[in-house]
Amino acid sequence: MYIPLLLTDFLDRAVKLYGDKTAVIDDEKVVTYFELNERVNRLSHGLEKVGVERGDRVAILAPNTLEMLEGFYGAFQLGVVTVPLNIRLKPIDYLFILNHSETKILFVDYELYGLIDPVRDQLNVEQIIVHGGSKIKLEDDDLEYEAWLAQFSAKPFDRAEMDEKDIASLLYTSGTTGDPKGVMLTHRNNYLQALQVMHHLRVSDQDVVLHVLPMFHVNGWGSIFYYTGNGATQIMLRKTRPNIIFEKLEKHDVTIMHMAPTVLNSLLQYYEENKINIKQQNVRVIIGGSAPPVTFIAKVEEEMGWEFIQVYGMTETSPLTLTSIIRAQHLDEPKEVQYRMKSKAGYQMLLTDVKVVNEEGEEVAPNSQEIGEIVIRSNGVMEGYWKNEKATNEVIRNGWFHTGDMGVVDSDGNIEIVDRKKDVIISGGENISSIEVENILYEHPAVIEAAVISIPHEKWGETPHAVVVVRDGEAVTEEEIIAFARERVAHYKAPTSVSFVEELPKTGSGKIQKAYLRNEFWKSMNKMVN
Ligand code: ATP
Ligand code: MG
Repeated sequence: MYIPLLLTDFLDRAVKLYGDKTAVIDDEKVVTYFELNERVNRLSHGLEKVGVERGDRVAILAPNTLEMLEGFYGAFQLGVVTVPLNIRLKPIDYLFILNHSETKILFVDYELYGLIDPVRDQLNVEQIIVHGGSKIKLEDDDLEYEAWLAQFSAKPFDRAEMDEKDIASLLYTSGTTGDPKGVMLTHRNNYLQALQVMHHLRVSDQDVVLHVLPMFHVNGWGSIFYYTGNGATQIMLRKTRPNIIFEKLEKHDVTIMHMAPTVLNSLLQYYEENKINIKQQNVRVIIGGSAPPVTFIAKVEEEMGWEFIQVYGMTETSPLTLTSIIRAQHLDEPKEVQYRMKSKAGYQMLLTDVKVVNEEGEEVAPNSQEIGEIVIRSNGVMEGYWKNEKATNEVIRNGWFHTGDMGVVDSDGNIEIVDRKKDVIISGGENISSIEVENILYEHPAVIEAAVISIPHEKWGETPHAVVVVRDGEAVTEEEIIAFARERVAHYKAPTSVSFVEELPKTGSGKIQKAYLRNEFWKSMNKMVN
């Protein structure tokens, strides 16, 4: 029997089994799964009324809110392609993405409408629906979002014919290394991803998730299916401020959170500076997006009392493919050994095949220290980049997705990300992992954040340069940072110069944009050459 795997199944199960359970808490808004489903049905009827059809694109620009979550499920019932938008972009970027994706309807949170207004006249979007607040009304209509929604029936919606190969989302990549590309993910991609991840993260109806990671990011977006399908309670978070995170954590007895290491870092800082007494234990923190320093792991597990789980993946793979959960044979090893294991990206998940291959395309031997590119074959690999066949063919070759990430594999299959290909610094012919050097800098007591990038060098071609953020009130010099690094890594790997900044540029999910930092230096060199 063939039954298409559709993302609507997850909400159906929650309504059937957990209808009376609290589904979403968004500040003062609290809804059960039954009520969420009613809102979703109303929205589907509303979308039908405004002329939305199967295959149309519906974009959502919002922080993590109830309306965002219901927007996804409401759109799926019509067989729509959802386009979750990063809230940290500039008006010109929205203009590009919305027109590139040929979006028909745009949902926007009232606090973010100002990002769209400047480009409104140039957008080909048919209708903008503002939600979440009372300040801005629906276009072409006098109603506020809640009143508009209330007009429509809460009865089950007569769903569009759909297939699991239909595109469920068009997610633009984080743009860490350049312009974002529209990644087409199908219902099948996301469905199988949800199954594999909920197994590895042990998600159940006892879970209370605090949605720290934005739902416009593939990892946050993908997580809504397994939390919904298992009847977990989902707490919405508008702003990733440490004080708000700690407050919600205690208030709602949160059990699980996903975040980037930079956000975890800000939690650690806040925890140390304010000497917080963490009452909420048994929390799993799921860390992905960039490689965390080992020191974070020890602090999280020993001082904060939470379980640290690392995951690895990317928008193009739905996203998760590796996880660092300790294997049974290592459970008796000393904690330090286990932390080191968890600092690696991890072991391949179910339904996923991950290899590290050298330039000849051969798999590197485990424990060989040979660095190769990580390639992935799985049901999570995207259909391709939207309207960009050339870019698609560059990354999906011979059935394998080429990640552009460099890694090594240890004797029991744990893969460590050495660096992104584009972030590796090649100095005098030697490859330097920017991550390795950054992790050393994080050991310096005054350093809060660090990025190591290549800058032009007359003799070596490139040389490592460190950009650091220093803890308030600490005085540290360039010479001290360089000396600190030189004591701990080979001299050629240590930064040869350091700049101090107030903050580092980051993507919407919290990743440091090294390409952006790098451009500054290479651009000015071009100027000199010209
Ligand atoms: P763009 O492709 O637009 O430059 P991006 O690659 O940052 O942006 P995402 O798909 O959000 O967009 O991020 C995936 C990338 O994040 C991976 O390719 C990898 O470089 C990095 N990454 C994810 N998880 C980890 C991890 N656990 N350790 C190290 N790096 C990670
Ligand atoms: Mg990428």
